[in-house]
Amino acid sequence: MKAPAFDYVKPKDLPEALRLLQQYGAGAQVLAGGQSLMAIMNLGLAMPEILVDITGIDGLRDIQETAHGIRVGALVTHATLESSALIAQKVPLLWQSVPHVAHMAIRNVGTIGGSMALADPAAEYPAVSLALNATITLIGPDGQRNVAAQDYFLGLYETARKEDELLVAVTFPKVSTDEVMIFDELTRRRGDYALCGLAAAFTVKSGVISAARLAYLSIGDTPVLAEAAGRSLVGNKPDQALIEVAQNALVNDLSPRGDLHGSVEGKLHWAKVLLARSLRELEKSA
Ligand SMILES: Cc1cc2nc3c(=O)[nH]c(=O)nc-3n(C[C@H](O)[C@H](O)[C@H](O)COP(=O)(O)OP(=O)(O)OC[C@H]3O[C@@H](n4cnc5c(N)ncnc54)[C@H](O)[C@@H]3O)c2cc1C
Repeated sequence: MKAPAFDYVKPKDLPEALRLLQQYGAGAQVLAGGQSLMAIMNLGLAMPEILVDITGIDGLRDIQETAHGIRVGALVTHATLESSALIAQKVPLLWQSVPHVAHMAIRNVGTIGGSMALADPAAEYPAVSLALNATITLIGPDGQRNVAAQDYFLGLYETARKEDELLVAVTFPKVSTDEVMIFDELTRRRGDYALCGLAAAFTVKSGVISAARLAYLSIGDTPVLAEAAGRSLVGNKPDQALIEVAQNALVNDLSPRGDLHGSVEGKLHWAKVLLARSLRELEKSA
């Protein structure tokens, strides 16, 4: 299918982009890499009056180390993240997740801002941002505001971003020496969206888990933090007995819906498999 007719504008700076978003409201769609938006438009699932192409705006392509963490500009592509030594060293969970995002051709163009704005529940970065409780920076007519990832994902493709706001950056906390990050997912074919995925951030002191944030993708309408399973790990060493305790606790955290991809039981099973894998990996590194 072809997208219906639309207007196109490429603002030179942020104020111009914000003015256009305010002027057109729900009729405008931001265009970043276009890797999701163009497909959605071609399927007739979005019919914007105007596309506001933000790729000409300076200052959205930087990865910077700040006092608060690593700030990734909205227009940073998946491929740039994948080749960034700073991301590999300071935000390893994000870095581990990038090769799972689509295929290289898409990673060359698609952006972190597009992924976080779309908030596909099967996407990798939303779950990573939730596991790390990253900060999402939005700019709108009333100025700039920061939203914690745990307050950002509101529902299926629904976020705290208002339609006249631009997502300008995501700031991730820097990994500390007692943290272990493990990203894993199950797919039918490499490059496909995940059937189920887990972004796990563990804090381990003298071999004992002192904190665990387990964020699942492809298991609900938003990325899901498995809080009961995370709590069940605290104060324990990762071993087979603990894996079983945590797997049992997962049932309190996850309520997947059965669909074409899998049954409720199947999805819970995948989530348990990923949890066991990550705890075995943790056991090896602890
Ligand atoms: C075949 C295929 C497979 C894919 N597989 C995966 C996968 O496995 N995992 C995965 O995570 N993704 C996958 N994707 C999606 C891909 O990662 C996209 O690049 C990404 O989701 C969107 O980034 P984009 O820059 O292309 O955004 P666009 O397509 O330009 O925009 C996406 C949405 O976000 C809005 N938007 C974009 N940037 C901003 C901003 N800065 N502020 C406010 N709103 C904004 C747009 O208006 C639009 O609604 C796949 C895509 C394809 C085509």
